[in-house]
Amino acid sequence: MSYSKGPRNSRPRRGSRPPRFEEEGDTIALLESVGPVETPPDMESFDELDLSPIMRKALVEAGFTKPSPIQAALIPHALAGTDVIGQARTGTGKTAAFSIPILEQLDSLEDCRDPQAIIIVPTRELADQVAGEAQRLAHGLPTEIAVLSGGKNMNRQLRQLENGVQIVVGTPGRVHDHLQRGTLRTDKVWCVVLDEADRMLDIGFRPQIERIMRKCPRNRQTLLLSATLPAVVRRLAESYMQEPVVIDCCRNEMAVETIEQRYFTIAQDRKVELIERLLEREDPEQAIVFCRTKRGTDRLYRHLARTYHGKCGAIHGDMQQRERDRVLQELRDRKLKILVATDVVGRGIDITTISHIVNFDVPQDCDDYVHRVGRTGRMGREGIAFTFVVPGEGEVLTSIEQRINKLLVRDTLEGFEPVVVAEPEPEVEVEQAPARKSLNPMNRKRKSRR
Ligand code: AMP
Repeated sequence: MSYSKGPRNSRPRRGSRPPRFEEEGDTIALLESVGPVETPPDMESFDELDLSPIMRKALVEAGFTKPSPIQAALIPHALAGTDVIGQARTGTGKTAAFSIPILEQLDSLEDCRDPQAIIIVPTRELADQVAGEAQRLAHGLPTEIAVLSGGKNMNRQLRQLENGVQIVVGTPGRVHDHLQRGTLRTDKVWCVVLDEADRMLDIGFRPQIERIMRKCPRNRQTLLLSATLPAVVRRLAESYMQEPVVIDCCRNEMAVETIEQRYFTIAQDRKVELIERLLEREDPEQAIVFCRTKRGTDRLYRHLARTYHGKCGAIHGDMQQRERDRVLQELRDRKLKILVATDVVGRGIDITTISHIVNFDVPQDCDDYVHRVGRTGRMGREGIAFTFVVPGEGEVLTSIEQRINKLLVRDTLEGFEPVVVAEPEPEVEVEQAPARKSLNPMNRKRKSRR
């Protein structure tokens, strides 16, 4: 067995393990089940994890005093070389959970000029954010991290790859593009991270992800992070992971638990009036207002910019990457008070000063709701979320409540009296509905896995 020559420790290297499964031509034998499910241990301090002094110092500098549950559970497995599926939402510290073990086992650039770890994320913004967090935790130790995401200068990425890179963070499309051009070498990769796997599969990146996985050495380690574990994610895990441990950090819905969640019922044509009055009443530190469409986002932005001139921004998928980056930076720098956005920023973006979320349009699915709302209440801070529900959307509200296992509280403002949003109940006797808890599809999934 060979050992990592990394500067931090001499832990057995995952890449030195022999492959554990039979190869069938180009396909990998499917695992029979996803794997044993664990809940995170209670951990009071980073002392309980076997980390190098330099990493300990980085954690102190970052102000991290104790591991979050996903960190407590994932880091020991990742350091031991085990494949892990971490079911965790954004805002739970999952970026550090996979970055810490990678940084701890990284060979120096002198020893290896080709990428050793590839972190794949669904959006460009998240790629920048993950790279930033990894760089911060590298704590001054020279660490070459390349961000390979679409919308960014290709030549710069090519130069960076040529000069030598230790970690790649990228979106599936651009990473795949580099693989096809032969500009990204994968033979030294010993760890692949799939962050927000459910989201990446949702937006149609499965072919690219599968090709990337097939290009990486078979005995690499794979860490998969996902808020939900629908069948499509489990299938990916079964095909490309080896006896993974499943860590369930969603049992207590951490990120969403500290967030007060309310709703308004409102006629479609009065939503703009309502948002103006609500923002006036709430006077948020910073708010993200979510719209369903790009055009709707532009329209509402133009409207709100009249009142919040210079303090209101918009972001959606049709905007140039440079413009999206600029707006996000202004939000981070707290120059903006209000950001009007589509679900492009619904996931992953971590800005701890977001105090308010407004779902101006109800999200298209329940997971999007959880992710939008998770933009506030980061790492246990308080936050509040409002959802505007129009007639005909009563069912959406109900399924959101089932998904989060909690009832939203109705809110009102003078002059905006509640309107009826649900279809009237049929006047026939129906069997008593089962208790809300068992309606939650997440609970059902977990039970069946145990
Ligand atoms: P993430 O879920 O990775 O987006 O992380 C959410 C936020 O929590 C980021 O700002 C992290 O820097 C921060 N964070 C991560 N781990 C810890 C920790 N153990 N203690 C305090 N903050 C943390």
